[in-house]
Amino acid sequence: MRNDIAEILRLINSKDIDRRQFLKILSAAGILTTAGVSSTYAASNAKGKIVIVGGGAAGISMAARLKRWLNNPDITLIDPADRQYYQPGFTLIASGVYQPDDVWKKQEDCMPSDIKWIKDSVVAIDPDHNKVTTKLSGVISYDFMVLCPGIQINWEGVEGITQKTLGEGNANCIYDFEGAQKTWKALRKFSETGGKGVYTDTYTKHKCGGAPKKICLLTEHYTRKHGTRQNVQLSYYTHSKELYDIPYYTPRLLEIYNERNIPINYNVWVKGVDTQAKKVYMERHEQVGDETVITPFVEDYDFLHFVPPMSAPDFVREAGLGWTEGKLASGAWVMVDKGTLVHKTYPNIVSLGDVAGIPTSKTSAAVRKQVPIAAKNLISLMEGKEPKEIYDGYAACPIVTDYGHVLLCEFNYEKKEEISFPFSLLDMSHEQWAAWILKVYLLKPMFFYGMLNGIA
Ligand SMILES: Cc1cc2nc3c(=O)[nH]c(=O)nc-3n(C[C@H](O)[C@H](O)[C@H](O)COP(=O)(O)OP(=O)(O)OC[C@H]3O[C@@H](n4cnc5c(N)ncnc54)[C@H](O)[C@@H]3O)c2cc1C
Repeated sequence: MRNDIAEILRLINSKDIDRRQFLKILSAAGILTTAGVSSTYAASNAKGKIVIVGGGAAGISMAARLKRWLNNPDITLIDPADRQYYQPGFTLIASGVYQPDDVWKKQEDCMPSDIKWIKDSVVAIDPDHNKVTTKLSGVISYDFMVLCPGIQINWEGVEGITQKTLGEGNANCIYDFEGAQKTWKALRKFSETGGKGVYTDTYTKHKCGGAPKKICLLTEHYTRKHGTRQNVQLSYYTHSKELYDIPYYTPRLLEIYNERNIPINYNVWVKGVDTQAKKVYMERHEQVGDETVITPFVEDYDFLHFVPPMSAPDFVREAGLGWTEGKLASGAWVMVDKGTLVHKTYPNIVSLGDVAGIPTSKTSAAVRKQVPIAAKNLISLMEGKEPKEIYDGYAACPIVTDYGHVLLCEFNYEKKEEISFPFSLLDMSHEQWAAWILKVYLLKPMFFYGMLNGIA
């Protein structure tokens, strides 16, 4: 049995596996139903020009699905990127589990055949006239739009550091491919030199809310494995009033931080870093009656992991496609119905992925569940029918708690656990080795060979 598992993992992670081999391996391992591959859907003759803005996890998966579910579709995808990154792998680069080249493929190799790829950036959208403006390729019209350009990381939101200067003064961030590589170097050095490690998140919605917690726990375990734990003091700062807001998982996560002697500081916003002096500038935001009392303070650090604020891209905000009221307005997250993923004002636009203004976590696990819903609803709209498919807010966040275990948090809009088979056979309120196997060996090939091919 152990040999079988080892062989499956070796095959799945070998460099030259193709889509057919991947499917064969998954079906041999009995994973196909979990991946949703079994879903059947009769192709539609609906017509109309579809423009997909953004070719990341959501955009490519949508293009692949729509290609299979429409006869002779007219699909144009606009994206400037040379590479498709498997971003969940950034945490594993930063902890030395993956090599940098493990997490990307050439964008041209991920692009479905027979769709038109315009390698360019969208700079403006005119939703009243069904047009997008690109940086270099002029104006492109559409009948239907899939809006999924991901998240804009607002590096300037933390004063004193930029995307380019990441790593200076030991201030690190894994939300960037280069940044993840610098973090791995800095983490090893920190384990040798010892000192004070400060870990923070940010006060806006951000992709993979678990990522800053994971790198903190991995640093802790790394120092333990290397016999230097007694030389480092670690502390975690969150903007939130709780460490995690899914009740099924929170108690164990708190227990782990407590067992590992990592104090948690709540309601803290990071504002700036002095990389020369190794000081991080923060504010404590406390609610007193109707008033928010803001108290600035400064922490010294030897190793810092911070997260910059994030929002929808500026062109989404400027097009008036974001929420204008409520919690999602400040980030201009796209104003879609949280069930159908159809825009509230423009019914010829669907939006999904990180940019979508829906009250769930921004993860590629969520994208995987959103894609078939958004694709079927778009086809219904093209056929002149009501969109009927409903997304329940499913998202998953595999919180890596040490080298060998993951607290696999799966949940929905109700903040209720929604555990996939076969994990439902285990106690998923606790970290599991099986979830580590999923995270390290299975999710990446599932992304590149399954999800991006519209089959998982
Ligand atoms: C450090 C880190 C850890 C993570 N960990 C996990 C995890 O453990 N599990 C998990 O499920 N998810 C995780 N995620 C989140 C996951 O990667 C994202 O949720 C997912 O990639 C979102 O897909 P998307 O298509 O919306 O955006 P992306 O995949 O980011 O794609 C956006 C695309 O839009 C394109 N684009 C941007 N601007 C324009 C423009 N103006 N015009 C045209 N195209 C444009 C970009 O080039 C890109 O190709 C993590 C992310 C990070 C950074």
